[in-house]
Amino acid sequence: MNAPSRQPDDLLSELQCHGVRWQDQSTGLSRRGGAGPSDHKALTLGAHTAMVPVLNQASLDSPYEARPSSDGDLALIFREGRQVGQVEIPGVPKFYARSTADGIPYWKIATLHSRDVLATTLLQHCIRMNDAATSCQFCAIGQSLAAGKTIARKRPEQLAEVATAAVELDGVKHMVMTTGTPQTRDRGAAILCEAAAAVTAAVDLPIQAQCEPPDEDSWFQRLKDSGVVSLGMHLEAVTEPVRRKIMPGKAEVPMSRYFEAFEAAVEVFGRGQVSTYILAGLGDPEDAIAEMSERLATIGVYPFVVPFVPIDGTPLAHHPKPDNALMQRLYPRIGASLRRHGLHSDDIRAGCAKCGACSALKHHE
Ligand code: SF4
Repeated sequence: MNAPSRQPDDLLSELQCHGVRWQDQSTGLSRRGGAGPSDHKALTLGAHTAMVPVLNQASLDSPYEARPSSDGDLALIFREGRQVGQVEIPGVPKFYARSTADGIPYWKIATLHSRDVLATTLLQHCIRMNDAATSCQFCAIGQSLAAGKTIARKRPEQLAEVATAAVELDGVKHMVMTTGTPQTRDRGAAILCEAAAAVTAAVDLPIQAQCEPPDEDSWFQRLKDSGVVSLGMHLEAVTEPVRRKIMPGKAEVPMSRYFEAFEAAVEVFGRGQVSTYILAGLGDPEDAIAEMSERLATIGVYPFVVPFVPIDGTPLAHHPKPDNALMQRLYPRIGASLRRHGLHSDDIRAGCAKCGACSALKHHE
């Protein structure tokens, strides 16, 4: 007999933390490696879509199992043999079938995230990635390149071509441009400007850029002038011991620099259009995450708190899975900060916090 279906938010949050054992790995849209939500599938329940881990080791011991339908549009979710829900699986985007004139498949240039976000990593290389003394231990940026699933550098004209097709064929609504951090002092801001200018010249698509704080705050206006409408600068961890342990290279950028950059960026992009990723489950205490979120929201920065999901092939592949109980305590606290300071994901013009699929925070705003 089927168990009663759970509330969509509860079930998606559970699946996001535990992962799902997927019966048929060939079905639907998923990807392995890369920046952002790797080893995930986008699953939709009611009006909500969440990126759920299905390909990593951690999901193999999940109490949840998905049995996809034969046409791959739906999957039934079971826990201990009892059905607890049913999710929709988005089809393969139409733009994935196309290639550039020089034969590069569009899906190697940008991918669909969640239901309507086009995402790309401009530079699939980072100054910190090849040295354990500097690399971010959660990051899988080199994996998809090594696996031939992407190209090392996405040129502005390639992005303009793919973005145009993704809007026309699949109705994408906004775009996330992230980048591995290059050697240059601008931390990638210059290539983000070039790419954003090319995309906005070709198609009407709001763009979020993501980078480390650049050397000069004048980059924020240049990014805006190039068509970027919102900006992400990602703390990832909020306390110094966790920063130094998990991301020793990036931790060399002091928190004080992040806060200077946040304030300067909010001046340019406006309150709520600047955001940061915070990975819960890496060791930061719950109170530290809640307090940092309040501090960020006070200055107009949206704290996008997501459960950290271990990715295979990274040093943290066997890190404990995120604790859904921790997330369920954190979300309402951060939601209260967002309300107190008038921040809402729907007001964000583009980017991860607008998409929200890597977290259940949206449902607690
Ligand atoms: S929240 Fe960001 S990384 Fe996650 S699916 Fe959405 S666009 Fe991609």
